Amino acid sequence: MAGQHRVIHLHASAPPKPAVGASCNGCGVCCAAEPCPLGMLLSRRLKGACVALRWDEPGARYRCGVVQEPAAYLRLLPASWAGRLARRWIAAGAGCDSDVEVA
Ligand code: SF4
Ligand code: SF4
Repeated sequence: MAGQHRVIHLHASAPPKPAVGASCNGCGVCCAAEPCPLGMLLSRRLKGACVALRWDEPGARYRCGVVQEPAAYLRLLPASWAGRLARRWIAAGAGCDSDVEVA
């Protein structure tokens, strides 16, 4: 939100956040600041880090646990549905859609 500052904790090796519209590099800023609609349901909160946000050590980037392992988070939904649901909300392939400003 404009004029508001918050501290979010990210892995020291996480890549810097790219500009809005650039390819997603897994910096994790969006999901650490505020969960997507699916993440809000899973995390039971509107602000703060999503419970499904995972650090990928070999890839040195964050990934969405729902996309990686849908059944672990959405046991009542078929895995293929859960993956599709999460992908839609992180706008996979559409570039970074987070306007969170990093200082
Ligand atoms: S969508 Fe943007 S802020 Fe979110 S992980 Fe990808 S690059 Fe980072
Ligand atoms: S994209 Fe995945 S990790 Fe990010 S907030 Fe949504 S459910 Fe959580």
